[in-house]
Amino acid sequence: AKIKGKNSFCFFNKDLYEKNMKRLSIEEDLNKAIKKNEFFLVYQPKINIKSNKVEGFEALIRWNHPSKGIIPPMEFIPIAEQTGLIREIDFWVMEEVFTQLKSWEKKGIDMGVISLNISPNQLKDTKIINRVKKLIKEIYIDINKIQIEITENMFIESFENAKDIVLKLKELGFKISLDDFGKGYSSLNYLKWLPIDVLKIDKSFVDGIHNDEYELIDLIISLAHRLKLEIVAEGVEYYDQYEYLKNNKCDVIQGYYIAKPLSIEDAEKFIVNFTNV
Ligand code: C2E
Ligand code: CA
Ligand code: CA
Ligand code: CA
Repeated sequence: AKIKGKNSFCFFNKDLYEKNMKRLSIEEDLNKAIKKNEFFLVYQPKINIKSNKVEGFEALIRWNHPSKGIIPPMEFIPIAEQTGLIREIDFWVMEEVFTQLKSWEKKGIDMGVISLNISPNQLKDTKIINRVKKLIKEIYIDINKIQIEITENMFIESFENAKDIVLKLKELGFKISLDDFGKGYSSLNYLKWLPIDVLKIDKSFVDGIHNDEYELIDLIISLAHRLKLEIVAEGVEYYDQYEYLKNNKCDVIQGYYIAKPLSIEDAEKFIVNFTNV
């Protein structure tokens, strides 16, 4: 037993070592990724199930690493959050969405409302507001067409500070969406004190439908309606989920059942070809 214990301890160390090395190299490369233009956005459609129309798209970041290939956000966003690089990344995303919207506008394509994600860390920093104002002056677009997805996590450290920034973003004309609702530290207070337009039900509750668990999702939908918020269900993968959400007055759905996140070209094709769920 002693030998086995010793061995597994060795393996553990090796794993940890490799994990640290991998992390360090990602961290290093991440610093250069913006300048080297290695990030790009993919766009996942959202469908309004009442009108059967495309409501818009969510922009999701991808990293095209020179040797590792496409890296999903879960593998670098947490690192970027710890190193503070997330501010630059989130700002890059916003600038990219502005530019893309402008180009769609010029081409005469209406893609609906485009949402983008902002990390909790970002919202500690009031400087973001000045940068956003500058961007709005530089690239003139209809700000109403942009939705900012925030998560509850950002209010844990300093509610007042984060609230202040969300209020300012709202004043600038952005729509505010509360993402992953119900997953973490949900406090009904957030709904009262924040200028939220959209509630995005966490995927776990949508998964629940597939396992015949309806209580919580019903509750969240009726809560959203009582508060006159638009309700979006994410991670819809199956017909039964789609059907349930439609019959129970969910407004908008998003998920592999409709489409995976798409390249710009495919998103444009999607909007042209979409007729029915
Ligand atoms: P999220 O904001 O909750 O985004 C939803 C995630 O679920 C996306 O993963 C999307 O591709 C995935 N998804 C969509 N439909 C389905 C489905 O039907 N089934 C399943 N299993 N998954 C589905 P992705 O793109 O890997 O992003 C993961 C997370 O990374 C996002 O979660 C968000 O928290 C973060 N993220 C993505 N892009 C950005 C960004 O530009 N900035 C920041 N700060 N965070 C981002
Ligand atoms: Ca999101
Ligand atoms: Ca989410
Ligand atoms: Ca999520």
